[in-house]
Amino acid sequence: MENLLVQKYGGTSVGDAERIKRVAERIKSYYENGYKLVVVVSAMGHTTDELIALASQISENPPKREMDMLLATGEQVSVALLAMALHEIGVNAVSFNALQIRIRTDSTFTNARIEKIETERLLQNLEQNKVCIVAGFQGVDAEENITTLGRGGSDTTAVALAAALQAKECEIYTDVDGVYTADPNKVKGARKHEVISYDEMLELASLGAGVLHSRSVEFAKKYGVILHVRSSFNFNKGTLVVPEEQMMEKLLVSGVTLKTDEARVSLTDIPDRPGIAAEIFSALAAQKINVDMIVQSTGKDNKNTISFTIPAKDLRQAREILELLLKQWGTGSVSFDENIAIVSAVGVGMKSHSGVAASMFRALADRGINIEMISTSEIKISCVIAKDRGREALQVVHDVFGLHEL
Ligand code: ADP
Ligand code: ASP
Ligand code: MG
Repeated sequence: MENLLVQKYGGTSVGDAERIKRVAERIKSYYENGYKLVVVVSAMGHTTDELIALASQISENPPKREMDMLLATGEQVSVALLAMALHEIGVNAVSFNALQIRIRTDSTFTNARIEKIETERLLQNLEQNKVCIVAGFQGVDAEENITTLGRGGSDTTAVALAAALQAKECEIYTDVDGVYTADPNKVKGARKHEVISYDEMLELASLGAGVLHSRSVEFAKKYGVILHVRSSFNFNKGTLVVPEEQMMEKLLVSGVTLKTDEARVSLTDIPDRPGIAAEIFSALAAQKINVDMIVQSTGKDNKNTISFTIPAKDLRQAREILELLLKQWGTGSVSFDENIAIVSAVGVGMKSHSGVAASMFRALADRGINIEMISTSEIKISCVIAKDRGREALQVVHDVFGLHEL
């Protein structure tokens, strides 16, 4: 639809009644300029964190299905309030939850994937000139259980809707002016990008740049949705996320990130024979545990060591799986370390330049920061370091690539 805009407002942007009213005014200005609007909202402020904390007072390990039932309530509050605020200023708006517009997902509770969205009801309402307000972050599975898309998942709801409705653009309104070379709340001298490629944004998002949910970027790339990340507190142009071909300049390093919610698992003295790695990683994958960096040392005396990182929240489950395997093999031991952080540098220019990794390693070494694991791809370098050196490492890597001067 030519004049259709999808807008998404994050938690801070709808943090209290005053802010919700301000968002309503912004929506009204687009509405009066002739746009059709589908607006996705997150839960107010820290609601999702508060709900998680509440659940933990009841149970140490709540059933994931019930967790999603609880978490989805946050977004249902904000869609209703925003629709009311729009009515107050004379804009016809209607709110929907995921069940009402059938945002179909798989059944991976707390981290579900969107499979299909039915657009019929939204299109009907848009035709009647209503602004459609949709609850972000939630979905329904084939049995009509409520699911959620993983923390930060409202971005993905917005992009999936933009793709399904063939919107002109998907605007992500947040509390910063766009995508920066590093988290501007953590790094001195971080600079805003005018444009960034899908691939770089995808790496940045999966490596810890919380400004966009990584699956939203995957969707945007797959369906060619133009993403515009901007602030809900001003009218400045933000950052456009576009295909790499549209980038005039290919930066050597376009961003650095820090991830602090991963843990390292080390399996030592395990059998050195074909099939062992397959056994470990199939068992983890069967429980939907995402493994990131993997390092295997050279075997000795028919014994081997494999280390890898997983999300810290999955440690308990991983421990159960791995201890079972060790028992079956009758040898080896497992240890866990939550005291790690992953610092990464990302840039499409790395494809054609050497020496980027060396500069990063040197900069960390000069500060006496020990590198515990390394992983690289065509456009990124990641190092595992001690958690308490994380912030310093982030700044140091940002400085060494001169990103404050972009
Ligand atoms: P919202 O609630 O609007 O979805 P988020 O907290 O999820 O907001 O994302 C915005 C935050 O992302 C910013 O406040 C900023 O601290 C953080 N952030 C991390 N990395 C970056 C980056 N490279 N550029 C911009 N913001 C970033
Ligand atoms: N409210 C959810 C969260 O805090 C989803 C989102 O904000 O995107 O993770
Ligand atoms: Mg977010």
